[in-house]
Amino acid sequence: MAAPPHHFSPLTRSFSLDGGGQTPRGNMQPFPGDQIQLPRNMIENSMFEEEPDVVDLAKEPCLHPLEPDEVEYEPRSSRLLVRGLGEHEMDDDEEDYESSAKLLGMSFMNRSSSLRNNMSVYRQSSNGSCSLPSARTMVVCTVTLVIAAALIMVIYLLPKCTFTKEGCHKKNHTIELIYPLATNGKIFPWAKVRLPSDVVPLHYDLVLQPNLTTLKFSGSVKIVVNIIHVTWKIVLHSSGLNITKATITSAGGHQEKPAEFLEYPLHDQIAVMAPEALLVGQNYTVNIAYSSNLSDTYYGFYKISYKDENSKQRWFAATQFEPVAARSAFPCFDEPAFKATFLIKIKRDEKLSTLSNMPKKATTPVTNGIVQDEFFVSLKMSTYLLAFVVADLKNISRETNGSLVSVYAIPQHLNQVEYALNTSVKLLAFYQNYFLINYPLEKLDLVAIPDFQSGAMENWGLITFRESALLFDSHTSSARDKKSITAVIAHELAHQWFGNLVTMEWWNDLWLNEGFATFMEYFAMEEIFPELHSDEDFLNLIFKAMMKDSLNSSHPVSSAVQSSEQIEEMFDALSYIKGASLLSMLKHYLTKDVFQAGIEVYLHNHKYGCAQSDDLWDSMNEITNGTLDVKKLMKTWIVQKGFPLVTVVRKGKIISVKQEKYLYLVEPENWTSDASYLWHIPLTYITSSCNFTHCTNAYLLDQKSAIIELPEEVEWIKFNVDMNGYYIVHYGEDWKTLIDLLKKNHTALSPKDRANLINNIFNLAGLGKESLEKAFDLIDYLNKESSTAPLTQALFQLSLIYNLLEKKGEQQLAARLMHRVERLLGDKIDQQSWTDDGALSQRELRSTLLAFACTHDIRNCRTTATEMFEKWVNSNGTMSLPSDVMKAIFTAGAKSNDGWDFLLKMYFSSVSEAEKSKMIEALASTEDVRKLLWLMQNSLEGEVIRTQELSHIIATVSQSLPGYLLAWDFVKENWEKLTRKFHLGSYTIQNIISWSTSQFATKAHLIEVKSFFESKSEQSSQLHSVKEAIDTIQLNIQWMERNLAMLQELL
Ligand SMILES: [Zn+2]
Repeated sequence: MAAPPHHFSPLTRSFSLDGGGQTPRGNMQPFPGDQIQLPRNMIENSMFEEEPDVVDLAKEPCLHPLEPDEVEYEPRSSRLLVRGLGEHEMDDDEEDYESSAKLLGMSFMNRSSSLRNNMSVYRQSSNGSCSLPSARTMVVCTVTLVIAAALIMVIYLLPKCTFTKEGCHKKNHTIELIYPLATNGKIFPWAKVRLPSDVVPLHYDLVLQPNLTTLKFSGSVKIVVNIIHVTWKIVLHSSGLNITKATITSAGGHQEKPAEFLEYPLHDQIAVMAPEALLVGQNYTVNIAYSSNLSDTYYGFYKISYKDENSKQRWFAATQFEPVAARSAFPCFDEPAFKATFLIKIKRDEKLSTLSNMPKKATTPVTNGIVQDEFFVSLKMSTYLLAFVVADLKNISRETNGSLVSVYAIPQHLNQVEYALNTSVKLLAFYQNYFLINYPLEKLDLVAIPDFQSGAMENWGLITFRESALLFDSHTSSARDKKSITAVIAHELAHQWFGNLVTMEWWNDLWLNEGFATFMEYFAMEEIFPELHSDEDFLNLIFKAMMKDSLNSSHPVSSAVQSSEQIEEMFDALSYIKGASLLSMLKHYLTKDVFQAGIEVYLHNHKYGCAQSDDLWDSMNEITNGTLDVKKLMKTWIVQKGFPLVTVVRKGKIISVKQEKYLYLVEPENWTSDASYLWHIPLTYITSSCNFTHCTNAYLLDQKSAIIELPEEVEWIKFNVDMNGYYIVHYGEDWKTLIDLLKKNHTALSPKDRANLINNIFNLAGLGKESLEKAFDLIDYLNKESSTAPLTQALFQLSLIYNLLEKKGEQQLAARLMHRVERLLGDKIDQQSWTDDGALSQRELRSTLLAFACTHDIRNCRTTATEMFEKWVNSNGTMSLPSDVMKAIFTAGAKSNDGWDFLLKMYFSSVSEAEKSKMIEALASTEDVRKLLWLMQNSLEGEVIRTQELSHIIATVSQSLPGYLLAWDFVKENWEKLTRKFHLGSYTIQNIISWSTSQFATKAHLIEVKSFFESKSEQSSQLHSVKEAIDTIQLNIQWMERNLAMLQELL
């Protein structure tokens, strides 16, 4: 899955909205003006004052990553299972997993995944097997545990005796406590969140009949299963389905026998109870008939309303199954390691068309006006990658290397699909060459979906996209839009190998899918589209991921997960960006060729199967052949959260380096508890003697500290060349040398190195390890800077400070900060033309600088933009505006009431997704709070503004002074609706939490945010993103306390 690209941080104004609904011209919905009622809380909130109370925030005990003592979450019922039946029950279960693993020819994920993964890191013997306790220890422990369990059970059961019918002495009491109750009141025979492994699916026949008039669907599924252990039950997933019939047929017999089925909705599970024991090694067919409504969320088999060319409302049905929603379209074994083949048949209106993962095999008439499409049997694949679309679609196609690549859209968007087709064909060829494995399907469809939560979804052979992530319009798509579309396609195509061909065994290793696809996305773009300079975008994303990873609320890239919220939460910047950044670091260390060879081995060894992180390192080790233990090195990055701060001290030829954990929000006495963190850091450096990429030096720092001796004394040394490593460097006294270098000859360092220095020094100032004065001193060289990466990073850091000052009521200081920026960059801003001329990098720089200047009303930017907006209005929107500065022009125009109304009218009539994206962001930048509220409310309702836009609208609103309290109020008041539509823990909810709280910097707001989430469900208050929001507010408070006085002096 691709997140809507480039929106990982809430702390920037310079994100671009990507996405847009589609409503044809002439269907304008007017803004009702003063009918909008402001929420009461907003007024109250605006009167918030910082309270003097000191909040003592309980800090999480810092778990030593090398001695994990985290206990994996187990639901109450499964804990009882362990207590009631003793340890042997657990062991049998483990055996089940291993047997099925053998049968499936894959190494199956163990249940207590990450805990054991973590343990195995440090308990491994040289041959990779875990050391086991002795048999005697096991016996003693088991006996002790059984006695203890028995005692606990007695104590536990005694008070309840009087409430049971059978009295206290019958054994089956434990059974009643062990298993949960099914919806019909009977005992449900399985208590765990993960499915049992005694039955595995081999093949599904799925027949579906969606009705786009009643918005319901019916279905039947026949699942061929194989029995690993004798059992009477088949437990599988089902969510929100109305099951009408279940039968079981044995492989040999032809008689379909009715089977009882039980439902346990808390775990999304059903159990089909066999009329007789199911025998080991035998295949059986489970047949289930059911019906349901097309979903009104973005998950499962869901409905989308849109207007066609004639303004007629039409329905579109599509699927989004990742991570856990296949179960709401059909009963299935909905875990990634249960791979099977699928035969899909869809009955549809003869005027519509259907698409699925595989090519269409046949279309046959069913009844009047209804036909059935049958697709070829799929390859062996995970349920979350299955997909189908039923809609009125048009496409263009091209044959390449034996596969037919097609791009589909609703008819009025067909003229915007050509760029996507050309790009996909190029990328597909690149990946086939790089991986040395051909794309295995005969076709690859890319479909633009009119309302879509994420950026795109990599379903095998049928990739679904948000329209703005696929459609390119030469008149309205900017340089940045082009990069963004290319990046999303590159990401999803990489998934056809990483994720689809080789899948992570369980969601704890989601980074194997997402980190890899993100890494390949930027790598492929650098190789095929170097003119896009996408490596600079990647750099900026890494900086933002590090902000998140530096908080105490962060988590290791590979973390134990079980519940659906925990699984959803894995789709975050750590899995995507940190994962990708670690791979990039490894690639630079191993060299390009060794890394590529390792990937080829990995894909080859695990194709059509599943893998864990260790399998990747093992493949790399096959190539390094003992010269480097990649597993040992990479473990330190995958199982430890956060990243190192490397401090460098130079004395003549001698360089001392030491590492410690980089962490915000710690009191000095807590530093010791982090002392056990240790990374194996591939340090790189360049010096004044030789500062070209070819003479980059490398040193593996695998101790707390080390000494590097240079061959000669140098004038300066710069570590982390081009920011190819995931760490921050503190130069101590040598900052002065580097600052002087930048002022005298900044091109001695690459643009990425310059951006890296800006980022590191501002971070160190935030941490209190370096003065803010020095950080401002460093960026004084910027008047000579003309590269996008360092300028973007500097503007980002300055925006963070500006936003905090503005919300703190320090308007004068904020204005003085802007004067400083103007002194530095004024000339550069003045040099920008309001056109689309020049190379892509120049165009992007122009976009960035003018958007910043107009936002902060400096250098007459708004005057020029407003003049252009007025000309555009006078032409009734027919005048063509330069796409790179279009957003700045719209934003300036939307400041007036008339301008805003006109822009809204044009928003409803535009057929360009690229244009609509810029318009909606401009509309959300108004200072009129009634308009802001109207936008948020209408986007939540989804009738006139697509709900897919909501998180971006909230992001824009929550950055501005007039909007930031309103955005938070809106989130609080609509929390239930938001989490129903977007799912708790999802990427969208993470962003909404993050954006709507990111500007808070007072203790009163800290208490407010904490108590709001505490008042919600335990799942809400336990979200990583909630903890991160709280950490961020504390960090903001701390930042202001630390730096406000200094800023007053400096500015
Ligand atoms: Zn992805």
